[in-house]
Amino acid sequence: MAQAALDLLFPPRCVLCRRVGQELCADCLSGFLPVGNLFCPICGEPQLTSKVCSRCAANPPAFKQVRSAYRFVAGLRHVVHVFKYNNRRSLAAPLAVAITQQIQEPKHPVAICPVPLFPARQVERGYNQARLLAVKLACCWHLTCLPEEALRRTRSTGSQVGLDYSARQANVHDAFAADPGLVEGWNILLVDDVCTTGSTMNACAGTLLAAGAISVSGVTLARASSNGNPGR
Ligand SMILES: [Zn+2]
Ligand SMILES: [Zn+2]
Repeated sequence: MAQAALDLLFPPRCVLCRRVGQELCADCLSGFLPVGNLFCPICGEPQLTSKVCSRCAANPPAFKQVRSAYRFVAGLRHVVHVFKYNNRRSLAAPLAVAITQQIQEPKHPVAICPVPLFPARQVERGYNQARLLAVKLACCWHLTCLPEEALRRTRSTGSQVGLDYSARQANVHDAFAADPGLVEGWNILLVDDVCTTGSTMNACAGTLLAAGAISVSGVTLARASSNGNPGR
């Protein structure tokens, strides 16, 4: 009721084209660039073949696989920025739906777990955008979303932007802790907004497996290319 009244007073506007009606309109959503079919079967990095990429071949990650829905370019880059930093929490629902349009629902029972923020960062921002996305994705796929205590970030890792692969790995090493009582015996699907090299996902997966998770996979809304391969 309150929401309906608010919508009447302040109707939602598309975050990209400002058209009244939805948080993200169908036209703008159709402009997102899907990752497509050519990617590394393990880390999901877009590339020109479907072979395991050189990074995964040299250092097999702890996760089973990571899949991303769209390239982190143009419109989507702006949407993610607004979702993360401008308190536009209502974008979680249309972005979760956007993920389901590109990524298949898990075939086996899994528990969804967002990539956590460092607590101080979360207080500053007021929310963890990955958790908002994870909760909505869990709704779409009728899955359990694990509570915040399941996986925590135990130290501030700063931004990964501008770091190369090995620096990213080192930056997130030992940065997470999991509660065995909450993760033991689960196949876990990690959820994040953006993935670049998969280093954060890998660190989370290692922690979850050590705490008794059966397997860990990941899904992200966006994929930032880490090596200048096709699609920027
Ligand atoms: Zn629009
Ligand atoms: Zn790979």
